[in-house]
Amino acid sequence: MKFEVTKKEAVILDPTHRMQVKSIPVEVRTDPLTGRTSRICHFRLLKFERPDLNRLIEASRNTCPFCPEKVLEVTPCFPPEIAPDGRLSRDDQLLFPNIAPYDGLGAVATLGGRHYLPMTEIEPQRIAGGIGLALDFYRRVRAIRHPESVYYLLSWNYMPASGSSLIHPHLQVFASSTAPNQLRQELAAAKTYHAQNGRIYWDDLAAAEMAEGSRYLGRIGRIEWLAGFAPFSVVGDVVAVVAECRTMLDMTEDDLRGIGQGLSAAMAAYDKMGIYNFNVCFFPGAETDEFARLHMVFSPRIYYNPVLATPDATALRTLYDESICVGFPEDIAAKVRPQFQALSHRNGDD
Ligand SMILES: [Zn+2]
Repeated sequence: MKFEVTKKEAVILDPTHRMQVKSIPVEVRTDPLTGRTSRICHFRLLKFERPDLNRLIEASRNTCPFCPEKVLEVTPCFPPEIAPDGRLSRDDQLLFPNIAPYDGLGAVATLGGRHYLPMTEIEPQRIAGGIGLALDFYRRVRAIRHPESVYYLLSWNYMPASGSSLIHPHLQVFASSTAPNQLRQELAAAKTYHAQNGRIYWDDLAAAEMAEGSRYLGRIGRIEWLAGFAPFSVVGDVVAVVAECRTMLDMTEDDLRGIGQGLSAAMAAYDKMGIYNFNVCFFPGAETDEFARLHMVFSPRIYYNPVLATPDATALRTLYDESICVGFPEDIAAKVRPQFQALSHRNGDD
Protein backbone atom coordinates (compact mmCIF):
# COMPACT_ATOMS: atom_id res chain seq x y z
CA MET A 1 0.00 0.00 0.00
CA LYS A 2 1.68 3.17 -1.19
CA PHE A 3 0.49 6.54 0.16
CA GLU A 4 2.25 8.76 -2.36
CA VAL A 5 2.75 12.44 -1.55
CA THR A 6 4.45 14.91 -3.87
CA LYS A 7 5.47 18.05 -2.02
CA LYS A 8 5.61 21.34 -3.93
CA GLU A 9 5.94 24.99 -3.04
CA ALA A 10 4.78 28.24 -4.55
CA VAL A 11 7.03 31.25 -3.98
CA ILE A 12 5.50 34.71 -3.81
CA LEU A 13 6.50 38.15 -2.62
CA ASP A 14 4.12 38.77 0.23
CA PRO A 15 2.24 42.12 0.12
CA THR A 16 1.32 41.76 3.81
CA HIS A 17 5.03 41.56 4.78
CA ARG A 18 6.66 44.29 2.67
CA MET A 19 6.98 41.99 -0.35
CA GLN A 20 9.29 39.59 1.45
CA VAL A 21 9.74 36.15 -0.07
CA LYS A 22 7.15 33.69 1.16
CA SER A 23 6.92 29.97 0.43
CA ILE A 24 3.46 28.40 0.32
CA PRO A 25 3.35 24.59 0.61
CA VAL A 26 1.21 22.41 -1.67
CA GLU A 27 0.92 18.63 -1.57
CA VAL A 28 -0.35 16.43 -4.38
CA ARG A 29 -1.59 13.10 -3.01
CA THR A 30 -2.27 10.07 -5.15
CA ASP A 31 -5.01 7.64 -4.20
CA PRO A 32 -3.34 4.23 -3.78
CA LEU A 33 -6.12 2.43 -5.68
CA THR A 34 -7.19 4.60 -8.60
CA GLY A 35 -4.31 7.06 -8.94
CA ARG A 36 -6.80 9.94 -8.60
CA THR A 37 -5.00 13.00 -7.23
CA SER A 38 -6.08 15.41 -4.55
CA ARG A 39 -4.28 18.63 -3.60
CA ILE A 40 -3.70 19.67 -0.03
CA CYS A 41 -3.47 23.45 -0.28
CA HIS A 42 -5.23 26.77 0.46
CA PHE A 43 -4.55 26.06 4.12
CA ARG A 44 -6.97 27.75 6.46
CA LEU A 45 -8.37 27.38 9.94
CA LEU A 46 -11.04 24.66 10.03
CA LYS A 47 -13.53 26.96 11.65
CA PHE A 48 -16.51 28.13 9.63
CA GLU A 49 -19.31 30.63 10.26
CA ARG A 50 -22.72 29.03 10.45
CA PRO A 51 -25.36 31.53 9.32
CA ASP A 52 -28.79 31.76 10.90
CA LEU A 53 -30.72 29.10 8.99
CA ASN A 54 -34.15 29.86 10.47
CA ARG A 55 -35.44 31.96 7.57
CA LEU A 56 -34.36 29.40 5.00
CA ILE A 57 -35.99 26.60 6.98
CA GLU A 58 -39.25 28.46 7.56
CA ALA A 59 -39.52 29.72 3.97
CA SER A 60 -39.14 26.18 2.59
CA ARG A 61 -41.61 24.51 4.96
CA ASN A 62 -44.89 25.50 3.25
CA THR A 63 -43.96 24.11 -0.14
CA CYS A 64 -42.07 21.04 1.11
CA PRO A 65 -43.28 17.87 -0.67
CA PHE A 66 -41.86 15.59 2.07
CA CYS A 67 -43.60 17.08 5.11
CA PRO A 68 -46.30 14.75 6.53
CA GLU A 69 -49.26 16.92 5.45
CA LYS A 70 -48.25 16.73 1.75
CA VAL A 71 -46.08 13.67 1.23
CA LEU A 72 -48.87 11.14 0.46
CA GLU A 73 -50.56 13.55 -1.96
CA VAL A 74 -47.67 14.81 -4.04
CA THR A 75 -45.17 11.95 -4.20
CA PRO A 76 -45.50 9.17 -6.79
CA CYS A 77 -46.16 5.47 -6.23
CA PHE A 78 -44.41 2.37 -7.53
CA PRO A 79 -46.17 -0.09 -9.81
CA PRO A 80 -47.62 -3.05 -7.85
CA GLU A 81 -44.84 -5.51 -8.79
CA ILE A 82 -42.40 -3.36 -6.79
CA ALA A 83 -44.66 -2.14 -3.98
CA PRO A 84 -48.29 -3.39 -3.72
CA ASP A 85 -49.09 -0.43 -1.44
CA GLY A 86 -47.34 2.03 -3.75
CA ARG A 87 -44.75 3.10 -1.19
CA LEU A 88 -42.61 1.42 1.46
CA SER A 89 -42.45 2.57 5.06
CA ARG A 90 -40.65 1.98 8.37
CA ASP A 91 -41.95 3.93 11.38
CA ASP A 92 -42.27 7.56 10.20
CA GLN A 93 -39.93 7.05 7.23
CA LEU A 94 -41.24 6.62 3.70
CA LEU A 95 -39.73 5.41 0.43
CA PHE A 96 -41.32 6.26 -2.93
CA PRO A 97 -40.18 6.72 -6.54
CA ASN A 98 -37.99 9.68 -7.32
CA ILE A 99 -40.04 11.99 -9.53
CA ALA A 100 -36.73 12.98 -11.15
CA PRO A 101 -34.99 9.59 -11.46
CA TYR A 102 -31.33 9.09 -12.45
CA ASP A 103 -31.86 5.65 -13.87
CA GLY A 104 -34.46 2.98 -14.58
CA LEU A 105 -35.02 2.52 -10.85
CA GLY A 106 -34.89 5.54 -8.61
CA ALA A 107 -36.36 6.17 -5.18
CA VAL A 108 -36.24 8.67 -2.36
CA ALA A 109 -36.42 7.76 1.32
CA THR A 110 -37.41 10.46 3.80
CA LEU A 111 -35.77 10.36 7.21
CA GLY A 112 -39.10 10.98 8.93
CA GLY A 113 -41.64 13.75 9.33
CA ARG A 114 -39.43 16.55 10.69
CA HIS A 115 -38.80 19.20 8.05
CA TYR A 116 -35.41 20.18 9.43
CA LEU A 117 -33.13 17.97 11.44
CA PRO A 118 -29.94 19.68 12.58
CA MET A 119 -26.89 17.49 11.93
CA THR A 120 -26.37 16.83 15.62
CA GLU A 121 -29.98 15.68 16.08
CA ILE A 122 -30.02 13.00 13.38
CA GLU A 123 -30.17 9.92 15.59
CA PRO A 124 -28.12 6.87 14.52
CA GLN A 125 -31.27 4.71 14.55
CA ARG A 126 -32.96 7.14 12.12
CA ILE A 127 -30.05 6.79 9.68
CA ALA A 128 -30.11 3.00 10.16
CA GLY A 129 -33.88 3.03 9.52
CA GLY A 130 -33.50 5.00 6.29
CA ILE A 131 -30.85 2.63 4.97
CA GLY A 132 -32.98 -0.33 6.13
CA LEU A 133 -35.85 1.03 4.05
CA ALA A 134 -33.49 1.23 1.06
CA LEU A 135 -32.56 -2.43 1.64
CA ASP A 136 -36.29 -3.34 1.60
CA PHE A 137 -36.49 -1.66 -1.81
CA TYR A 138 -33.36 -3.41 -3.15
CA ARG A 139 -34.72 -6.80 -2.00
CA ARG A 140 -37.96 -6.22 -3.88
CA VAL A 141 -36.35 -5.19 -7.14
CA ARG A 142 -33.89 -8.08 -6.84
CA ALA A 143 -36.77 -10.52 -6.23
CA ILE A 144 -38.47 -9.51 -9.49
CA ARG A 145 -35.07 -9.66 -11.30
CA HIS A 146 -35.35 -6.08 -12.44
CA PRO A 147 -32.63 -5.49 -15.07
CA GLU A 148 -31.24 -2.52 -13.10
CA SER A 149 -30.73 -4.52 -9.91
CA VAL A 150 -26.95 -4.83 -10.33
CA TYR A 151 -25.41 -2.01 -8.28
CA TYR A 152 -27.51 -0.92 -5.30
CA LEU A 153 -26.62 2.70 -4.81
CA LEU A 154 -27.39 5.04 -1.97
CA SER A 155 -26.44 8.67 -1.60
CA TRP A 156 -27.36 11.52 0.69
CA ASN A 157 -27.24 15.23 -0.07
CA TYR A 158 -27.79 17.10 3.19
CA MET A 159 -28.60 20.83 3.06
CA PRO A 160 -28.19 23.11 0.02
CA ALA A 161 -24.37 23.30 -0.30
CA SER A 162 -24.45 19.52 -0.91
CA GLY A 163 -26.64 19.95 -3.99
CA SER A 164 -29.88 19.24 -2.16
CA SER A 165 -32.83 21.25 -3.43
CA LEU A 166 -34.83 20.45 -0.28
CA ILE A 167 -34.19 21.05 3.42
CA HIS A 168 -36.26 18.01 4.44
CA PRO A 169 -33.72 15.21 5.06
CA HIS A 170 -33.93 12.37 2.54
CA LEU A 171 -31.78 9.66 0.94
CA GLN A 172 -31.39 9.01 -2.79
CA VAL A 173 -31.90 5.29 -3.33
CA PHE A 174 -31.36 3.71 -6.71
CA ALA A 175 -30.28 0.60 -8.50
CA SER A 176 -28.45 0.58 -11.78
CA SER A 177 -26.72 -1.70 -14.24
CA THR A 178 -24.45 1.28 -15.04
CA ALA A 179 -21.92 2.00 -12.29
CA PRO A 180 -21.23 5.74 -11.91
CA ASN A 181 -17.72 6.90 -12.92
CA GLN A 182 -15.94 6.82 -9.57
CA LEU A 183 -17.42 3.44 -8.64
CA ARG A 184 -16.61 1.97 -12.06
CA GLN A 185 -12.98 3.17 -11.83
CA GLU A 186 -12.62 1.86 -8.29
CA LEU A 187 -14.03 -1.54 -9.20
CA ALA A 188 -11.79 -1.84 -12.27
CA ALA A 189 -8.71 -0.98 -10.18
CA ALA A 190 -9.81 -3.32 -7.37
CA LYS A 191 -10.19 -6.15 -9.88
CA THR A 192 -6.60 -5.63 -11.02
CA TYR A 193 -5.42 -5.36 -7.39
CA HIS A 194 -7.18 -8.63 -6.56
CA ALA A 195 -5.69 -10.38 -9.58
CA GLN A 196 -2.17 -9.22 -8.61
CA ASN A 197 -2.36 -9.68 -4.83
CA GLY A 198 -5.13 -12.20 -4.27
CA ARG A 199 -6.62 -9.80 -1.73
CA ILE A 200 -9.35 -7.19 -1.54
CA TYR A 201 -7.97 -3.66 -1.72
CA TRP A 202 -10.19 -2.11 0.95
CA ASP A 203 -9.32 -4.84 3.49
CA ASP A 204 -5.65 -4.04 2.93
CA LEU A 205 -6.37 -0.30 3.10
CA ALA A 206 -8.14 -0.64 6.45
CA ALA A 207 -5.28 -2.79 7.83
CA ALA A 208 -2.63 -0.37 6.55
CA GLU A 209 -4.45 2.66 7.99
CA MET A 210 -4.89 0.94 11.35
CA ALA A 211 -1.16 0.10 11.46
CA GLU A 212 -0.10 3.58 10.35
CA GLY A 213 -2.56 5.26 12.67
CA SER A 214 -2.58 8.94 11.71
CA ARG A 215 -5.80 8.69 9.70
CA TYR A 216 -7.39 5.78 11.56
CA LEU A 217 -10.55 6.73 13.44
CA GLY A 218 -11.78 3.49 15.00
CA ARG A 219 -13.89 0.37 14.60
CA ILE A 220 -17.63 -0.02 15.18
CA GLY A 221 -18.68 -3.66 15.07
CA ARG A 222 -17.02 -4.92 11.88
CA ILE A 223 -16.85 -1.48 10.26
CA GLU A 224 -13.47 0.29 10.07
CA TRP A 225 -13.50 4.10 9.99
CA LEU A 226 -10.73 6.19 8.42
CA ALA A 227 -10.03 9.73 7.27
CA GLY A 228 -9.49 9.74 3.50
CA PHE A 229 -5.82 10.00 2.43
CA ALA A 230 -6.61 11.87 -0.82
CA PRO A 231 -10.02 13.32 0.03
CA PHE A 232 -12.81 14.46 -2.27
CA SER A 233 -13.97 17.15 0.16
CA VAL A 234 -12.39 20.53 0.77
CA VAL A 235 -12.44 19.65 4.49
CA GLY A 236 -11.53 15.95 4.34
CA ASP A 237 -13.59 12.77 4.08
CA VAL A 238 -14.61 10.09 6.56
CA VAL A 239 -14.52 6.62 5.01
CA ALA A 240 -16.19 3.46 6.35
CA VAL A 241 -15.20 -0.03 5.17
CA VAL A 242 -17.79 -2.71 5.96
CA ALA A 243 -15.86 -5.98 6.41
CA GLU A 244 -17.10 -9.08 4.59
CA CYS A 245 -19.74 -7.14 2.59
CA ARG A 246 -19.81 -6.68 -1.17
CA THR A 247 -23.24 -5.22 -1.80
CA MET A 248 -25.67 -3.18 0.28
CA LEU A 249 -27.73 -6.33 0.79
CA ASP A 250 -24.87 -8.00 2.71
CA MET A 251 -25.31 -5.54 5.59
CA THR A 252 -26.91 -6.78 8.82
CA GLU A 253 -28.98 -4.73 11.27
CA ASP A 254 -25.77 -4.43 13.34
CA ASP A 255 -23.96 -2.92 10.35
CA LEU A 256 -26.78 -0.41 9.80
CA ARG A 257 -26.57 0.59 13.46
CA GLY A 258 -22.80 0.92 13.13
CA ILE A 259 -23.09 3.10 10.01
CA GLY A 260 -25.62 5.28 11.85
CA GLN A 261 -23.33 5.62 14.88
CA GLY A 262 -20.25 6.40 12.81
CA LEU A 263 -22.06 8.97 10.66
CA SER A 264 -23.43 10.64 13.79
CA ALA A 265 -19.90 10.77 15.23
CA ALA A 266 -18.57 12.32 12.01
CA MET A 267 -21.41 14.86 11.96
CA ALA A 268 -20.78 15.81 15.60
CA ALA A 269 -17.10 16.39 14.81
CA TYR A 270 -17.76 18.54 11.73
CA ASP A 271 -20.56 20.41 13.49
CA LYS A 272 -17.92 21.65 15.93
CA MET A 273 -16.07 23.19 12.95
CA GLY A 274 -19.23 25.07 11.93
CA ILE A 275 -19.97 22.78 8.97
CA TYR A 276 -23.60 21.93 8.23
CA ASN A 277 -23.72 20.41 4.70
CA PHE A 278 -22.49 17.04 3.47
CA ASN A 279 -22.66 14.30 0.82
CA VAL A 280 -22.61 10.58 1.48
CA CYS A 281 -22.22 7.81 -1.09
CA PHE A 282 -22.02 4.05 -0.69
CA PHE A 283 -19.72 2.17 -3.07
CA PRO A 284 -20.83 -1.45 -3.51
CA GLY A 285 -19.79 -4.12 -5.96
CA ALA A 286 -22.14 -6.31 -7.96
CA GLU A 287 -23.01 -9.62 -6.25
CA THR A 288 -20.43 -11.53 -8.28
CA ASP A 289 -17.56 -9.03 -7.80
CA GLU A 290 -15.30 -11.08 -5.52
CA PHE A 291 -12.79 -8.19 -5.51
CA ALA A 292 -15.29 -5.63 -4.15
CA ARG A 293 -15.78 -4.43 -0.60
CA LEU A 294 -18.71 -2.21 0.40
CA HIS A 295 -17.49 1.16 1.60
CA MET A 296 -19.00 4.55 2.23
CA VAL A 297 -17.66 8.09 2.00
CA PHE A 298 -18.95 10.99 4.11
CA SER A 299 -17.81 14.18 2.43
CA PRO A 300 -18.68 17.53 4.07
CA ARG A 301 -19.45 20.53 1.89
CA ILE A 302 -18.86 24.23 2.47
CA TYR A 303 -19.52 27.53 0.75
CA TYR A 304 -16.25 29.17 -0.27
CA ASN A 305 -18.02 32.46 0.25
CA PRO A 306 -21.19 32.06 2.36
CA VAL A 307 -22.37 35.61 1.55
CA LEU A 308 -22.46 34.84 -2.20
CA ALA A 309 -23.36 31.14 -1.63
CA THR A 310 -20.22 30.30 -3.66
CA PRO A 311 -20.11 26.50 -4.06
CA ASP A 312 -16.95 24.51 -3.32
CA ALA A 313 -17.32 22.72 -6.69
CA THR A 314 -15.28 25.03 -8.95
CA ALA A 315 -13.93 24.48 -12.47
CA LEU A 316 -11.00 22.57 -10.97
CA ARG A 317 -13.37 20.14 -9.27
CA THR A 318 -16.11 19.98 -11.91
CA LEU A 319 -14.16 19.85 -15.17
CA TYR A 320 -10.60 18.82 -14.18
CA ASP A 321 -12.10 16.47 -11.56
CA GLU A 322 -9.35 17.54 -9.14
CA SER A 323 -10.09 17.77 -5.43
CA ILE A 324 -8.56 20.21 -3.04
CA CYS A 325 -8.47 19.91 0.74
CA VAL A 326 -7.67 22.95 2.91
CA GLY A 327 -6.09 20.99 5.76
CA PHE A 328 -3.88 17.93 6.20
CA PRO A 329 -6.14 14.86 6.44
CA GLU A 330 -4.10 13.72 9.47
CA ASP A 331 -4.90 16.98 11.31
CA ILE A 332 -8.56 16.63 10.35
CA ALA A 333 -8.51 13.02 11.60
CA ALA A 334 -7.22 14.27 14.95
CA LYS A 335 -10.29 16.51 15.21
CA VAL A 336 -12.72 13.74 14.23
CA ARG A 337 -11.17 10.82 16.17
CA PRO A 338 -12.32 11.88 19.69
CA GLN A 339 -15.98 11.45 18.61
CA PHE A 340 -15.23 7.87 17.54
CA GLN A 341 -13.28 7.17 20.74
CA ALA A 342 -16.20 8.44 22.81
CA LEU A 343 -18.42 6.02 20.90
CA SER A 344 -16.23 2.99 21.54
CA HIS A 345 -16.07 3.90 25.26
CA ARG A 346 -19.87 3.96 25.30
CA ASN A 347 -20.03 0.66 23.44
CA GLY A 348 -17.38 -0.77 25.76
CA ASP A 349 -15.49 -2.39 22.91
CA ASP A 350 -12.21 -0.49 22.63
ZN1 LIG B 1 -40.53 19.13 4.90
